[in-house]
Amino acid sequence: MPGSKNDKLYCNSCKRVTNHEEKFRNKETCFESEEFHEYLLNILWMCMGCGEFVLQRVFYNDETSCDEEADIRYFPKLAHSELTPKTYSKLKPKLATLYNEAITCYNKGALILCAAGLRALLEGICSDKRVQGANLKKKINNLQSSLPNKNIIRNLHHFRFMGNEAVHELAAPKPTELALATSVIEDLLNFFYELDYKASQLHEMRRANKKRFKVLAKSPNSLQRWADGPVQGAEPVEEPPKSETV
Ligand SMILES: [Zn+2]
Repeated sequence: MPGSKNDKLYCNSCKRVTNHEEKFRNKETCFESEEFHEYLLNILWMCMGCGEFVLQRVFYNDETSCDEEADIRYFPKLAHSELTPKTYSKLKPKLATLYNEAITCYNKGALILCAAGLRALLEGICSDKRVQGANLKKKINNLQSSLPNKNIIRNLHHFRFMGNEAVHELAAPKPTELALATSVIEDLLNFFYELDYKASQLHEMRRANKKRFKVLAKSPNSLQRWADGPVQGAEPVEEPPKSETV
């Protein structure tokens, strides 16, 4: 918190939240008129774990508090505030591109475009899974037949409201809300494009094992060797005929 001398912040070097001590503070007025002022508060923090420094810049004005409503930025950027895109084996390239671009927008601070991208991705998933509906609300409801997890449906509706505001009213959602919305979409991607893939891989593995067992069963010698336990060195080495030895 900008008002205190100690704070818990993420440390890029320690790669976790650590105690930080304030080492320097300076406040300046960025804009001034008779009725309105804008301020910039610079605070230099030092990690109590490794001694690494980070500069916190807090932009606020007469109407916003410098704690909660202010625009707070860190230099260097705190690594935990960035999202890392995941890989979904069965996700179609067009949808994967949309997902990756939404994450890039988030990491670059383009929050309206990120929300719009996630919303387009949700529409794209519904279309790919042939989910019918006159609008996104109905499509999300119709996803229920394929999704056993009702929490995902409820969360998708929350996300829909946020996407509406971003697209129609050009209102930027908060980064924390967007990070949460991204994780909801990732739950959906995981369900449709990863769990299904893993289930089919498991099925293929079982089929291959069954086939192998049948082949072994047809060859009694092989089956006996297999049943005797692990064979170190695999196949027995045949000794060459004595006539060929020198
Ligand atoms: Zn540290």
